[in-house]
Amino acid sequence: MPHPHPTRAWDGQRQPIPTTTRRRILRSSPTCGLSYPGVCEGTPRVVDHRVGVADARAAGWDPADIDDPANLHAVCDACHALKTAAEQARGRARAQAARPKARPKPPHPGLRP
Ligand SMILES: [Zn+2]
Repeated sequence: MPHPHPTRAWDGQRQPIPTTTRRRILRSSPTCGLSYPGVCEGTPRVVDHRVGVADARAAGWDPADIDDPANLHAVCDACHALKTAAEQARGRARAQAARPKARPKPPHPGLRP
């Protein structure tokens, strides 16, 4: 099956976390690793990067460390969704900051002498 987002640069060169690793982390985690107050559903269902992939890359992490089990934990869907939204917001802010400054607009032709 083709990858749904083959052109996402940050997704390139990454292998998915092996199923065995995911299962082991979920099995060994009775509670959500994030436990955001008022959000958490309690039961972990997904394996999440403690430091998100994009954040870790922006911080110059070695790719091997990003997917290391030490950077993975089991979290519930609700906490994961909240954390992902925050990570995406940071990613957008980084993209915005990295964008070259827009050139000053030439004056409107009607305003030229
Ligand atoms: Zn949770």
